[in-house]
Amino acid sequence: AKEEGKRRWRRFEPLLQTSMTERLETRADLEAGLATGQFHLVHQPVVETGTGRVVALEALLRWQHPERGLVGPDEFLPVAEATGLIVPLGRWALQQALRELASWDGAAPRLHVNVSAVQMRLPGVVDEVRDALAAAGVAPGRLVVELTESLLLEDDRVVRDALAGLKGMGVHLAIDDFGTGYSSLGYLRSFPVDILKIDKSFVRGLDEPGQEALVDAIVRIARTLDLELVAEGVEREDQRTALDRLGCTHAQGWLFSSPVPAAAVPALLARPDLL
Ligand code: C2E
Ligand code: CA
Ligand code: CA
Ligand code: CA
Repeated sequence: AKEEGKRRWRRFEPLLQTSMTERLETRADLEAGLATGQFHLVHQPVVETGTGRVVALEALLRWQHPERGLVGPDEFLPVAEATGLIVPLGRWALQQALRELASWDGAAPRLHVNVSAVQMRLPGVVDEVRDALAAAGVAPGRLVVELTESLLLEDDRVVRDALAGLKGMGVHLAIDDFGTGYSSLGYLRSFPVDILKIDKSFVRGLDEPGQEALVDAIVRIARTLDLELVAEGVEREDQRTALDRLGCTHAQGWLFSSPVPAAAVPALLARPDLL
């Protein structure tokens, strides 16, 4: 038994060490990356499901790592959130997103920016958004802040005040990945939410029996509560037509456009539609 325990230890120790080292490296890397301009944003259009006309864009973070190449947010956000680096990183992303929005023309549509729960719990978040809007010269009504469902579940005073503050300023609020968390209708009614983003898992399953009924139910909820709807992850024409038929008015996904660099946005906006 002793021999077995020893062997087990030897086998697991190197694994533990590797993951700890990688985690620390990533934290230091993130800090250095932010200080040396390794992050940038790409933007994905939100379109009218029926016409393909662009009504908004969503800003998404990318990290151009000197050795690892392009790293996506799913890889670095967990570390950024756990280490608190999401605070300066998220601040940068918001300011940069608004600068880029201002650099397109005045007719450019709304811009969606993802804001993490960690950022939303900071006492100064409303002032930060107000300052970033003023610095970029962007009207608050052109900003959509995307939040996760889990944030609403916490129901704490700080978050409630922050949402009310943003809403009072004229900023729109969207619930991201809707349907994957546990938000009840009660929460939706008691928070000043404007937009629900239907998670891509529902869109992916649209051709399976029963799934259409789920999307149909979400459409009805949105109508009842007078909320706008955006379906995420639309990759195929049959998904677009199904969503259109179900009354989901807005959509986003590779069918219309992948996320593009800021410099490519004016050309996208110049097109009458993305169909
Ligand atoms: P999300 O907000 O749900 O963003 C949608 C994700 O789906 C993006 O992944 C996008 O590139 C991807 N996507 C777009 N169209 C399609 C499609 O047709 N099919 C499929 N399968 N995927 C599609 P991405 O860019 O890797 O971002 C992952 C997540 O990272 C985002 O999920 C968001 O939660 C988070 N994120 C991104 N940027 C930021 C940021 O600036 N701040 C914060 N806090 N989170 C961010
Ligand atoms: Ca989002
Ligand atoms: Ca989403
Ligand atoms: Ca997501």
